[in-house]
Amino acid sequence: MSNAKQTKRVTPGSRETLLHMLEILPDAVFVVDDTETIVYANASAQTLTGTTREEVCGTSLWCSAPHLVSPSLYQAVHKAKQTREPTEVAYVSPATNRWLHVSLSSTDEGLALFFQEQLEPLPLQHALSQDEHMYRDLLEGFSDGVMIVTPDGLVLDINQRPLADAHLRREEVVGTPVTDLPAWSSDPVVQEHLSAAIARASRGETVLFEAKIHPRPDLSLDILMTITSHRDASQQVEYLICAGRDITERKHAEEELRVLIDAIPQLVWMARPDGSRDYCNRRWCDYTDMTSEQYQGDGWLQAIHPDDQQRVLEVWQHSVQTGRPYETELRLRQGTTGAYRWFLVRAMQHKDDQGTTLKWFGTCTDIDDQKQAEQRLKASEENWRVLAETVPQLVWTTRPDGRVDYCNQRFCEYMHAAFEQLQGYGWRQFLHPEDVERVVALRHHTLETGEPFESEHRFRNGRTGAYHWFLARGMPVRNEAGQIVKWFGTCTDIDDQKRIEEALRQSQKRIRALIDSNIIGIVSVEGEEDVLVEANNAYLHMTGYTQEDVRSRTLNVERTTPSEQAHLFHHALQELAARGQHTPFETELVCKDGSRLPVLVGGVIFQECPRQIIGFVLDNSARKELEQRKDDFISMASHELRSPLTAMKLQTTLLHRQLAKQGIPASAPALSSMETQINKVSRLVEELLDVSKIQAGRLEYRQETVDLDALLWEIADTMQQTHPSYRILVHGAVRASLMADRDRLGQVFTNLLSNAVKYSPDAQTVEMDLSTSQETVTIRVHDHGLGIPREQREKIFDRFYRATGPSQKAIPGLGMGLYIVAEIVKHHGGTIMVESTVGKGSTFTVTIPRNRDS
Ligand code: ADP
Repeated sequence: MSNAKQTKRVTPGSRETLLHMLEILPDAVFVVDDTETIVYANASAQTLTGTTREEVCGTSLWCSAPHLVSPSLYQAVHKAKQTREPTEVAYVSPATNRWLHVSLSSTDEGLALFFQEQLEPLPLQHALSQDEHMYRDLLEGFSDGVMIVTPDGLVLDINQRPLADAHLRREEVVGTPVTDLPAWSSDPVVQEHLSAAIARASRGETVLFEAKIHPRPDLSLDILMTITSHRDASQQVEYLICAGRDITERKHAEEELRVLIDAIPQLVWMARPDGSRDYCNRRWCDYTDMTSEQYQGDGWLQAIHPDDQQRVLEVWQHSVQTGRPYETELRLRQGTTGAYRWFLVRAMQHKDDQGTTLKWFGTCTDIDDQKQAEQRLKASEENWRVLAETVPQLVWTTRPDGRVDYCNQRFCEYMHAAFEQLQGYGWRQFLHPEDVERVVALRHHTLETGEPFESEHRFRNGRTGAYHWFLARGMPVRNEAGQIVKWFGTCTDIDDQKRIEEALRQSQKRIRALIDSNIIGIVSVEGEEDVLVEANNAYLHMTGYTQEDVRSRTLNVERTTPSEQAHLFHHALQELAARGQHTPFETELVCKDGSRLPVLVGGVIFQECPRQIIGFVLDNSARKELEQRKDDFISMASHELRSPLTAMKLQTTLLHRQLAKQGIPASAPALSSMETQINKVSRLVEELLDVSKIQAGRLEYRQETVDLDALLWEIADTMQQTHPSYRILVHGAVRASLMADRDRLGQVFTNLLSNAVKYSPDAQTVEMDLSTSQETVTIRVHDHGLGIPREQREKIFDRFYRATGPSQKAIPGLGMGLYIVAEIVKHHGGTIMVESTVGKGSTFTVTIPRNRDS
């Protein structure tokens, strides 16, 4: 400080002296101008820097004596230049490790710096020395490379790390522009980057950037450079601190990660802590057809469906701000086709040990198929719901654990309860108390086994309180992996069905009782083949078959029916099909031993599908035997009566002749009446004989050509003679001959005409209409008599049947005539039918085919 003041008073004359003094001073003295260029260096200074005056002068102070340079000196120089006050600074020379004590004073020439090299700091500067030590320790303590740089970019100080990397000594570096260091100068792009960063930092900005540097040809490092500025008391940027962190390993790891990420079959991306995207893997780029430049920062948003962009951005920003994981679904554009697919995007932060976010890692998973399946499922679920609400059943679904999670409206309505009351296990309260245990146990079992189930139980109607039977069916719904995702079920009201079943059971019970009573034979016949599937003992007893025969299922209607009577059964089956039952009829059964058993058979359809018929079989043999005996008697009696009658007839004829010869005519009328009576009885006997022959199937017929007109006229004539009070009128003619039995045909029309007369007590005429067609001849016998009630018209052709009305009963007869008539007409292939009005008369119409194959 004192030196500075003296310098001001130096005269030009004494300049030489002064210079000489300076030359012999043991201290190194430098004088620098405003640009810190050395303008003077004394001999000691030259010794200290190891250069000549010529070499030193004209160079920058910071370059020419790097081992003297330190940020403290730099600060002191600046302070002295600004204040123009003398100042001092002491620091450890990083080159010599000795204390340097520097006095700085302004001169007319510039700034004079006096360097004193000392082993120890001056006592007064002890505190300062501590700071200085601390500074050095700190500097070297950094694992990062640290450089203190002037705002112009000259290195003022540097720690060991970058020096070691570059194989350089400090003095080779200090004072040189940082951009000229080999680490930076080897790549012009990196060098330019650093220059720009220093320029920005010298304006007070903190600059952060990554760079790949080459401290020496065989070493390449990735560093994260942070450049901050230090400001003096007047807030001017005094110097810059450049800290370079070696991130080679991290970069390497990142590179490896990228390789790995590129290999991941998913779209993967990374973003900086501020949310700007800095990396997308190859797959992402391939899918979106975007380049690294395009997706950088916010560029990736362009790949997102316009409808999703705003939402996605908001979610992403929220995650970046709050640090919460990011998850959203979005549509990502397929770059080449322009089509969008749904993706699930997830991202998480990657933090360092201090919890500072280093990166965001994100993935995009293609969920388009799943999304579409979901949509389809939604649509199908929609359909399903509509269906569930339309069907007439109670529909429900449960979760895999069996808790009800859906009931259709019908379910709620039946229970008269809200869904909330039925969900879970709420529905159980509507079960009949007697069914609860069984139903719950079954449900437990099916939940364990995953088997579909079916059960019948009663549910209480919430409105009426009455219980109805339901058939509940449940089945598991499984996903593709086979896991049960839900249970689907229905409950069908089977109350009516149950009642019917019960009624059926009851009726079956009754039928069983009837069958087992063995009062009559009962069989059950089933299916198209009419197989006997069941027969009671009464049936077996009468036919000789056994239960084994029935069980073997070889007995059927066809086998137990005589072939000539098959038509009866056929007719009965038709009637059954039409009416559900058939009129009982007489027939025969073929017994086990081949014998025939006369029976009366009746049947009803018991069940439609498969057809089941219950047949009732009544042993008719006793009655048949009785009838047979009666027929035998009639046949016998008529035969027996025939001979005496013939004898009587002969005798009366002889007597008639004798009396005539003897001339006793008075007795003739009595004889005639006797003959008439004998004839009547003869006719009766003949008819009786005919009936018994018909019964036995032994009525004989002749075949001859019959002139029908002649025959009919003859009969009409005879009838007219015997019944003169009637007018027998014949209309028309048949004009045809038939191959027939003349007597039998005569018998037919004689019978019809005599009936017409007999049952017309108050009428005078009986008519006979004859007509013919190509195929048939038709003869109508018409009277104006009593007529026949409708319900008796069918029966009058039966053997021994007589109408029951009082007026008919008064007229004698045995009910054989029409029976014989019908049989003869039938034999000739013809038909006979009757039309009648009670009180007005009847018409019997006989139709006979003209040509018959017989
Ligand atoms: P019958 O010996 O009783 O005449 P038929 O077999 O000839 O026996 O007739 C049977 C029954 O048919 C008669 O009893 C009678 O009631 C009724 N019948 C037959 N022909 C006539 C008719 N022309 N008018 C009214 N009833 C008749």
